[in-house]
Amino acid sequence: MNIQAIKRVLLLVGFIMTVSLTLAQNREVAQQTINTLCGEDFSGRGYINKGDSMASAFIAKRMKDIGLQGYSSDFLNPFLLNVNTFNTTQVKVDQKVLRPGFDFLVAPEAKSAEGKYKVFYVSPKLLSSSKAVKKVKSAIKKGFIPVLCSYEATNKVLAENAAKIKKSLSGAIFIQLKSSLTWSVATNQSKNTEIELLDSLFDRYASEIKITIEANFIKNYASQNVIGYVPGAEKPDSFIILCGHYDHLGKMGDAIFYGANDNASGIATMLDLATYFVDHPQRYSLVFIAFGAEEAGLIGSLNYVKKPVVPLASTRFVFNMDLMGSGDKGATIVNGSIYKDEYEALTKINTENDYLPLIKSRGKAANSDHYFFTEVGVPSFFIYLMGDYTFYHSPNDSPKNLKLGQYYDRSFQLVRDFIIHLN
Ligand SMILES: [Zn+2]
Repeated sequence: MNIQAIKRVLLLVGFIMTVSLTLAQNREVAQQTINTLCGEDFSGRGYINKGDSMASAFIAKRMKDIGLQGYSSDFLNPFLLNVNTFNTTQVKVDQKVLRPGFDFLVAPEAKSAEGKYKVFYVSPKLLSSSKAVKKVKSAIKKGFIPVLCSYEATNKVLAENAAKIKKSLSGAIFIQLKSSLTWSVATNQSKNTEIELLDSLFDRYASEIKITIEANFIKNYASQNVIGYVPGAEKPDSFIILCGHYDHLGKMGDAIFYGANDNASGIATMLDLATYFVDHPQRYSLVFIAFGAEEAGLIGSLNYVKKPVVPLASTRFVFNMDLMGSGDKGATIVNGSIYKDEYEALTKINTENDYLPLIKSRGKAANSDHYFFTEVGVPSFFIYLMGDYTFYHSPNDSPKNLKLGQYYDRSFQLVRDFIIHLN
Protein backbone atom coordinates (compact mmCIF):
# COMPACT_ATOMS: atom_id res chain seq x y z
CA MET A 1 0.00 0.00 0.00
CA ASN A 2 1.42 3.41 -0.87
CA ILE A 3 1.48 6.40 1.45
CA GLN A 4 -1.60 7.94 -0.20
CA ALA A 5 -3.57 4.71 0.22
CA ILE A 6 -2.50 4.39 3.86
CA LYS A 7 -3.52 8.02 4.44
CA ARG A 8 -6.91 7.33 2.87
CA VAL A 9 -7.43 4.25 5.05
CA LEU A 10 -6.39 6.17 8.17
CA LEU A 11 -8.79 8.98 7.28
CA LEU A 12 -11.60 6.49 6.77
CA VAL A 13 -10.84 4.72 10.08
CA GLY A 14 -10.74 8.12 11.79
CA PHE A 15 -14.09 9.03 10.26
CA ILE A 16 -15.73 5.77 11.32
CA MET A 17 -14.29 6.11 14.83
CA THR A 18 -15.57 9.70 15.11
CA VAL A 19 -19.05 8.65 13.94
CA SER A 20 -19.27 5.71 16.35
CA LEU A 21 -17.76 7.78 19.18
CA THR A 22 -20.38 10.51 18.61
CA LEU A 23 -23.16 7.93 18.55
CA ALA A 24 -21.86 6.33 21.75
CA GLN A 25 -21.80 9.77 23.41
CA ASN A 26 -25.32 10.45 22.15
CA ARG A 27 -26.48 7.15 23.58
CA GLU A 28 -24.97 8.07 26.94
CA VAL A 29 -26.77 11.44 26.91
CA ALA A 30 -30.02 9.68 25.92
CA GLN A 31 -29.64 7.21 28.80
CA GLN A 32 -29.09 10.15 31.18
CA THR A 33 -32.21 11.86 29.81
CA ILE A 34 -34.21 8.67 30.52
CA ASN A 35 -32.72 8.37 34.03
CA THR A 36 -33.61 11.99 34.83
CA LEU A 37 -37.17 11.77 33.47
CA CYS A 38 -37.66 8.58 35.53
CA GLY A 39 -36.22 10.10 38.74
CA GLU A 40 -38.26 9.78 41.96
CA ASP A 41 -38.79 13.57 42.03
CA PHE A 42 -40.61 13.41 38.68
CA SER A 43 -43.22 11.08 40.28
CA GLY A 44 -43.86 9.13 37.07
CA ARG A 45 -44.62 12.33 35.08
CA GLY A 46 -48.28 12.32 36.06
CA TYR A 47 -50.54 14.51 38.18
CA ILE A 48 -49.25 13.80 41.70
CA ASN A 49 -46.58 16.20 43.08
CA LYS A 50 -46.74 18.12 39.76
CA GLY A 51 -44.70 15.43 38.05
CA ASP A 52 -45.86 16.59 34.61
CA SER A 53 -44.70 20.19 35.28
CA MET A 54 -41.32 19.01 36.60
CA ALA A 55 -40.79 16.97 33.43
CA SER A 56 -41.91 19.71 31.06
CA ALA A 57 -39.67 22.29 32.79
CA PHE A 58 -36.72 19.92 32.39
CA ILE A 59 -37.49 19.34 28.69
CA ALA A 60 -37.96 23.07 28.05
CA LYS A 61 -34.56 23.77 29.61
CA ARG A 62 -32.95 21.04 27.52
CA MET A 63 -34.53 22.47 24.36
CA LYS A 64 -33.11 25.92 25.19
CA ASP A 65 -29.66 24.52 26.00
CA ILE A 66 -29.60 22.52 22.76
CA GLY A 67 -30.24 25.77 20.85
CA LEU A 68 -33.84 25.33 19.72
CA GLN A 69 -35.95 28.44 19.33
CA GLY A 70 -39.31 28.80 21.06
CA TYR A 71 -42.72 30.04 19.95
CA SER A 72 -43.15 31.30 23.53
CA SER A 73 -40.42 32.41 25.94
CA ASP A 74 -40.98 29.38 28.22
CA PHE A 75 -41.42 26.85 25.34
CA LEU A 76 -44.67 25.74 27.02
CA ASN A 77 -48.05 25.22 25.34
CA PRO A 78 -50.68 24.92 28.11
CA PHE A 79 -53.98 23.00 28.20
CA LEU A 80 -56.42 21.69 30.84
CA LEU A 81 -57.65 18.18 31.65
CA ASN A 82 -59.76 16.36 34.23
CA VAL A 83 -57.90 13.52 35.91
CA ASN A 84 -58.42 10.96 38.69
CA THR A 85 -55.40 10.58 41.00
CA PHE A 86 -54.49 8.40 44.01
CA ASN A 87 -52.71 9.71 47.09
CA THR A 88 -53.00 6.47 49.09
CA THR A 89 -53.54 2.88 47.93
CA GLN A 90 -53.20 0.17 50.59
CA VAL A 91 -54.52 -3.39 50.50
CA LYS A 92 -53.95 -6.04 53.15
CA VAL A 93 -55.19 -9.63 52.76
CA ASP A 94 -55.31 -11.26 56.23
CA GLN A 95 -51.80 -10.43 57.58
CA LYS A 96 -50.18 -9.87 54.16
CA VAL A 97 -49.52 -6.28 53.01
CA LEU A 98 -49.71 -6.21 49.20
CA ARG A 99 -47.32 -4.13 47.11
CA PRO A 100 -49.09 -1.42 45.07
CA GLY A 101 -48.36 -1.63 41.34
CA PHE A 102 -46.90 -5.13 41.56
CA ASP A 103 -49.47 -7.17 43.54
CA PHE A 104 -52.54 -4.99 42.97
CA LEU A 105 -53.85 -2.01 41.04
CA VAL A 106 -56.71 0.33 41.75
CA ALA A 107 -58.90 0.78 38.67
CA PRO A 108 -57.93 4.20 37.20
CA GLU A 109 -61.48 5.60 37.61
CA ALA A 110 -62.01 4.24 41.16
CA LYS A 111 -63.26 6.44 43.99
CA SER A 112 -62.02 6.52 47.59
CA ALA A 113 -62.77 3.54 49.86
CA GLU A 114 -61.83 2.49 53.35
CA GLY A 115 -62.76 -0.52 55.45
CA LYS A 116 -62.27 -4.08 56.61
CA TYR A 117 -64.33 -6.76 54.89
CA LYS A 118 -64.95 -10.50 54.94
CA VAL A 119 -64.09 -12.23 51.68
CA PHE A 120 -66.85 -13.51 49.38
CA TYR A 121 -65.06 -15.49 46.67
CA VAL A 122 -66.97 -15.64 43.39
CA SER A 123 -65.78 -18.88 41.81
CA PRO A 124 -66.03 -19.63 38.04
CA LYS A 125 -68.96 -21.90 38.88
CA LEU A 126 -70.85 -19.16 40.74
CA LEU A 127 -69.89 -16.51 38.16
CA SER A 128 -71.34 -18.61 35.34
CA SER A 129 -74.68 -19.14 37.14
CA SER A 130 -77.76 -17.02 36.60
CA LYS A 131 -77.94 -16.30 40.32
CA ALA A 132 -74.52 -14.61 40.41
CA VAL A 133 -75.76 -11.00 40.52
CA LYS A 134 -78.29 -11.68 43.26
CA LYS A 135 -75.84 -13.63 45.42
CA VAL A 136 -73.10 -10.99 45.13
CA LYS A 137 -75.55 -8.22 46.04
CA SER A 138 -76.78 -10.01 49.13
CA ALA A 139 -73.18 -10.75 50.18
CA ILE A 140 -72.31 -7.03 49.92
CA LYS A 141 -75.33 -6.18 52.10
CA LYS A 142 -73.98 -8.52 54.76
CA GLY A 143 -70.59 -6.70 54.79
CA PHE A 144 -68.61 -8.94 52.47
CA ILE A 145 -66.28 -7.84 49.67
CA PRO A 146 -66.81 -9.82 46.45
CA VAL A 147 -63.62 -11.26 44.93
CA LEU A 148 -64.36 -12.17 41.33
CA CYS A 149 -62.33 -15.04 39.88
CA SER A 150 -60.08 -14.29 36.92
CA TYR A 151 -61.35 -15.31 33.48
CA GLU A 152 -60.27 -15.14 29.85
CA ALA A 153 -61.86 -12.29 27.89
CA THR A 154 -62.84 -14.94 25.36
CA ASN A 155 -64.99 -16.72 27.94
CA LYS A 156 -68.20 -14.90 27.05
CA VAL A 157 -70.43 -16.24 29.83
CA LEU A 158 -68.02 -15.28 32.62
CA ALA A 159 -67.11 -11.95 31.01
CA GLU A 160 -70.75 -10.98 30.51
CA ASN A 161 -71.79 -11.98 34.03
CA ALA A 162 -68.83 -10.10 35.54
CA ALA A 163 -69.84 -7.01 33.52
CA LYS A 164 -73.44 -7.40 34.71
CA ILE A 165 -72.35 -7.62 38.35
CA LYS A 166 -70.12 -4.54 38.03
CA LYS A 167 -72.87 -2.54 36.35
CA SER A 168 -75.44 -3.41 39.01
CA LEU A 169 -73.16 -2.47 41.92
CA SER A 170 -73.50 1.27 42.41
CA GLY A 171 -71.17 2.47 45.15
CA ALA A 172 -69.69 -0.98 45.79
CA ILE A 173 -66.14 -2.02 46.55
CA PHE A 174 -65.00 -5.21 44.89
CA ILE A 175 -61.95 -7.12 43.78
CA GLN A 176 -61.24 -8.54 40.35
CA LEU A 177 -58.54 -11.20 40.13
CA LYS A 178 -56.28 -10.87 37.06
CA SER A 179 -53.58 -13.00 35.48
CA SER A 180 -51.48 -9.86 34.81
CA LEU A 181 -51.69 -6.18 35.74
CA THR A 182 -51.61 -3.18 33.35
CA TRP A 183 -52.44 0.28 34.69
CA SER A 184 -53.67 3.46 32.97
CA VAL A 185 -55.03 6.97 33.67
CA ALA A 186 -58.71 8.00 33.80
CA THR A 187 -60.28 11.40 33.15
CA ASN A 188 -63.42 10.51 35.13
CA GLN A 189 -64.30 9.03 38.52
CA SER A 190 -66.79 6.18 38.81
CA LYS A 191 -69.19 5.40 41.67
CA ASN A 192 -67.38 2.14 42.42
CA THR A 193 -64.00 1.11 43.74
CA GLU A 194 -62.57 -1.78 41.75
CA ILE A 195 -59.27 -3.27 42.81
CA GLU A 196 -57.37 -5.62 40.50
CA LEU A 197 -55.37 -8.25 42.32
CA LEU A 198 -52.85 -10.68 40.89
CA ASP A 199 -54.56 -14.07 40.76
CA SER A 200 -51.38 -16.03 41.49
CA LEU A 201 -50.97 -14.18 44.82
CA PHE A 202 -54.52 -14.59 46.08
CA ASP A 203 -55.31 -17.24 48.65
CA ARG A 204 -58.86 -18.48 47.97
CA TYR A 205 -59.32 -19.25 51.63
CA ALA A 206 -58.30 -15.78 52.82
CA SER A 207 -60.90 -14.45 55.24
CA GLU A 208 -60.40 -10.70 55.53
CA ILE A 209 -59.33 -7.79 53.31
CA LYS A 210 -58.44 -4.32 54.59
CA ILE A 211 -58.51 -1.43 52.14
CA THR A 212 -57.49 2.23 52.23
CA ILE A 213 -57.87 4.04 48.90
CA GLU A 214 -57.71 7.82 48.80
CA ALA A 215 -58.68 9.06 45.35
CA ASN A 216 -58.66 12.70 44.31
CA PHE A 217 -60.53 13.73 41.18
CA ILE A 218 -59.06 16.97 39.81
CA LYS A 219 -61.09 19.14 37.43
CA ASN A 220 -59.23 21.42 35.01
CA TYR A 221 -55.72 20.36 35.97
CA ALA A 222 -53.25 22.65 34.15
CA SER A 223 -50.76 20.62 32.08
CA GLN A 224 -48.72 21.48 29.00
CA ASN A 225 -46.92 20.45 25.82
CA VAL A 226 -43.31 21.61 25.24
CA ILE A 227 -42.42 23.02 21.80
CA GLY A 228 -39.13 24.18 20.20
CA TYR A 229 -37.97 24.48 16.60
CA VAL A 230 -35.11 24.82 14.13
CA PRO A 231 -35.96 27.35 11.37
CA GLY A 232 -35.87 25.98 7.83
CA ALA A 233 -32.92 27.11 5.70
CA GLU A 234 -34.96 27.50 2.48
CA LYS A 235 -38.64 27.21 3.32
CA PRO A 236 -39.06 28.29 6.93
CA ASP A 237 -42.85 28.53 6.52
CA SER A 238 -43.19 24.79 5.83
CA PHE A 239 -42.91 22.44 8.79
CA ILE A 240 -42.05 18.90 9.77
CA ILE A 241 -43.03 17.89 13.32
CA LEU A 242 -40.96 15.38 15.33
CA CYS A 243 -42.78 14.43 18.50
CA GLY A 244 -43.26 12.04 21.40
CA HIS A 245 -45.18 12.16 24.67
CA TYR A 246 -43.31 12.92 27.88
CA ASP A 247 -46.14 12.14 30.35
CA HIS A 248 -46.66 8.73 31.92
CA LEU A 249 -49.08 7.30 34.51
CA GLY A 250 -47.66 9.06 37.56
CA LYS A 251 -48.05 7.54 41.02
CA MET A 252 -50.64 5.17 42.49
CA GLY A 253 -50.14 5.65 46.23
CA ASP A 254 -46.52 4.67 46.91
CA ALA A 255 -46.03 3.00 43.52
CA ILE A 256 -44.20 5.03 40.87
CA PHE A 257 -44.87 4.21 37.23
CA TYR A 258 -41.55 5.40 35.76
CA GLY A 259 -42.30 4.97 32.05
CA ALA A 260 -38.69 4.46 30.93
CA ASN A 261 -39.60 2.90 27.58
CA ASP A 262 -43.03 4.61 27.56
CA ASN A 263 -41.97 7.25 26.74
CA ALA A 264 -38.83 8.71 28.31
CA SER A 265 -37.07 6.80 25.49
CA GLY A 266 -38.95 8.71 22.76
CA ILE A 267 -38.18 12.07 24.41
CA ALA A 268 -34.49 11.10 24.68
CA THR A 269 -34.45 10.23 20.95
CA MET A 270 -36.29 13.44 20.05
CA LEU A 271 -33.83 15.62 22.02
CA ASP A 272 -30.94 13.74 20.42
CA LEU A 273 -32.40 14.46 16.95
CA ALA A 274 -32.93 18.12 17.94
CA THR A 275 -29.25 18.35 18.89
CA TYR A 276 -28.29 16.97 15.47
CA PHE A 277 -30.61 19.22 13.46
CA VAL A 278 -29.56 22.42 15.29
CA ASP A 279 -26.16 21.79 13.68
CA HIS A 280 -27.70 20.58 10.39
CA PRO A 281 -30.70 22.78 9.55
CA GLN A 282 -32.93 21.41 6.80
CA ARG A 283 -34.95 22.98 3.98
CA TYR A 284 -38.14 23.07 6.09
CA SER A 285 -38.53 24.19 9.68
CA LEU A 286 -38.34 21.27 12.11
CA VAL A 287 -40.70 21.51 15.08
CA PHE A 288 -39.99 19.35 18.15
CA ILE A 289 -42.98 18.68 20.41
CA ALA A 290 -43.03 16.81 23.72
CA PHE A 291 -46.75 16.16 24.21
CA GLY A 292 -48.43 15.93 27.63
CA ALA A 293 -51.38 13.80 28.80
CA GLU A 294 -51.06 11.18 26.06
CA GLU A 295 -51.78 8.42 28.56
CA ALA A 296 -54.96 10.20 29.63
CA GLY A 297 -56.32 9.88 26.07
CA LEU A 298 -54.06 11.82 23.63
CA ILE A 299 -55.18 15.06 25.30
CA GLY A 300 -52.03 17.15 24.67
CA SER A 301 -51.92 16.38 20.95
CA LEU A 302 -55.70 16.83 20.59
CA ASN A 303 -55.35 20.30 22.14
CA TYR A 304 -52.47 21.07 19.78
CA VAL A 305 -54.48 20.04 16.70
CA LYS A 306 -57.41 22.20 17.88
CA LYS A 307 -55.10 25.19 18.47
CA PRO A 308 -52.00 24.58 16.31
CA VAL A 309 -48.87 26.66 16.91
CA VAL A 310 -47.78 26.37 13.25
CA PRO A 311 -50.47 26.08 10.53
CA LEU A 312 -51.65 22.50 9.93
CA ALA A 313 -51.94 23.30 6.20
CA SER A 314 -48.17 24.00 6.08
CA THR A 315 -47.27 20.98 8.20
CA ARG A 316 -45.88 18.53 5.66
CA PHE A 317 -45.36 15.54 7.94
CA VAL A 318 -45.60 14.44 11.58
CA PHE A 319 -43.17 11.82 12.88
CA ASN A 320 -44.23 10.48 16.29
CA MET A 321 -41.93 8.35 18.45
CA ASP A 322 -43.22 6.24 21.35
CA LEU A 323 -41.56 3.16 22.95
CA MET A 324 -38.07 3.77 21.48
CA GLY A 325 -36.01 1.85 24.03
CA SER A 326 -35.54 -1.54 22.35
CA GLY A 327 -35.40 -2.42 18.63
CA ASP A 328 -33.75 -5.85 18.61
CA LYS A 329 -36.91 -7.16 16.89
CA GLY A 330 -37.31 -4.15 14.60
CA ALA A 331 -39.97 -1.45 14.36
CA THR A 332 -43.62 -0.99 13.47
CA ILE A 333 -44.82 2.01 11.46
CA VAL A 334 -48.45 2.95 12.10
CA ASN A 335 -49.88 4.58 8.91
CA GLY A 336 -47.18 2.78 6.89
CA SER A 337 -49.85 1.24 4.70
CA ILE A 338 -51.52 4.65 4.14
CA TYR A 339 -48.52 6.83 3.14
CA LYS A 340 -46.96 4.29 0.82
CA ASP A 341 -44.27 6.46 -0.85
CA GLU A 342 -42.90 7.62 2.49
CA TYR A 343 -43.02 4.07 3.83
CA GLU A 344 -41.10 2.79 0.83
CA ALA A 345 -38.46 5.50 1.34
CA LEU A 346 -38.14 4.60 5.03
CA THR A 347 -37.72 0.86 4.40
CA LYS A 348 -35.20 1.60 1.61
CA ILE A 349 -33.08 3.68 4.01
CA ASN A 350 -33.31 0.87 6.54
CA THR A 351 -32.29 -1.90 4.12
CA GLU A 352 -29.46 0.05 2.47
CA ASN A 353 -27.89 0.92 5.83
CA ASP A 354 -28.76 -2.31 7.64
CA TYR A 355 -30.19 -0.37 10.61
CA LEU A 356 -33.03 -2.48 12.09
CA PRO A 357 -33.68 -6.22 11.54
CA LEU A 358 -37.30 -5.69 10.46
CA ILE A 359 -39.80 -2.95 9.66
CA LYS A 360 -43.52 -3.71 9.67
CA SER A 361 -46.33 -1.45 8.54
CA ARG A 362 -49.80 -1.01 10.00
CA GLY A 363 -52.88 0.96 9.03
CA LYS A 364 -54.26 3.81 11.05
CA ALA A 365 -54.58 3.45 14.82
CA ALA A 366 -55.63 5.81 17.61
CA ASN A 367 -52.78 4.60 19.81
CA SER A 368 -50.53 7.65 20.12
CA ASP A 369 -50.10 11.38 19.37
CA HIS A 370 -49.93 11.14 15.56
CA TYR A 371 -53.64 10.16 15.49
CA PHE A 372 -55.44 13.53 15.50
CA PHE A 373 -53.00 14.89 12.90
CA THR A 374 -53.94 12.03 10.55
CA GLU A 375 -57.63 12.72 11.23
CA VAL A 376 -57.30 16.33 10.03
CA GLY A 377 -55.33 15.31 6.93
CA VAL A 378 -51.73 15.91 8.01
CA PRO A 379 -49.62 12.92 6.86
CA SER A 380 -48.00 11.15 9.79
CA PHE A 381 -46.06 8.10 10.92
CA PHE A 382 -45.91 6.62 14.37
CA ILE A 383 -42.85 4.47 15.00
CA TYR A 384 -42.53 2.07 17.93
CA LEU A 385 -39.67 -0.35 18.43
CA MET A 386 -40.07 -4.03 19.24
CA GLY A 387 -37.81 -6.25 21.32
CA ASP A 388 -37.38 -8.54 24.28
CA TYR A 389 -38.17 -5.65 26.63
CA THR A 390 -41.88 -6.10 27.33
CA PHE A 391 -42.54 -4.19 30.59
CA TYR A 392 -45.56 -2.02 29.85
CA HIS A 393 -47.64 0.25 32.11
CA SER A 394 -46.02 -1.38 35.14
CA PRO A 395 -43.53 -0.02 37.73
CA ASN A 396 -41.07 -2.45 36.11
CA ASP A 397 -40.81 -0.17 33.05
CA SER A 398 -37.94 1.61 34.81
CA PRO A 399 -34.37 2.70 33.95
CA LYS A 400 -33.16 -0.14 36.20
CA ASN A 401 -34.50 -2.52 33.53
CA LEU A 402 -34.10 -0.40 30.37
CA LYS A 403 -30.53 -0.02 29.13
CA LEU A 404 -30.07 1.50 25.68
CA GLY A 405 -27.96 -0.58 23.30
CA GLN A 406 -26.77 -0.45 19.70
CA TYR A 407 -30.36 -0.39 18.42
CA TYR A 408 -30.73 3.03 19.98
CA ASP A 409 -27.97 4.32 17.63
CA ARG A 410 -29.54 2.54 14.67
CA SER A 411 -33.09 3.80 15.22
CA PHE A 412 -31.71 7.32 15.77
CA GLN A 413 -29.91 7.11 12.41
CA LEU A 414 -33.00 5.70 10.69
CA VAL A 415 -35.22 8.56 11.86
CA ARG A 416 -32.50 11.16 11.13
CA ASP A 417 -32.02 9.88 7.56
CA PHE A 418 -35.76 9.73 6.96
CA ILE A 419 -36.26 13.35 8.12
CA ILE A 420 -33.42 14.41 5.80
CA HIS A 421 -35.14 12.46 2.98
CA LEU A 422 -38.43 14.34 3.61
CA ASN A 423 -36.53 17.58 3.02
ZN1 LIG B 1 -46.62 5.77 25.16
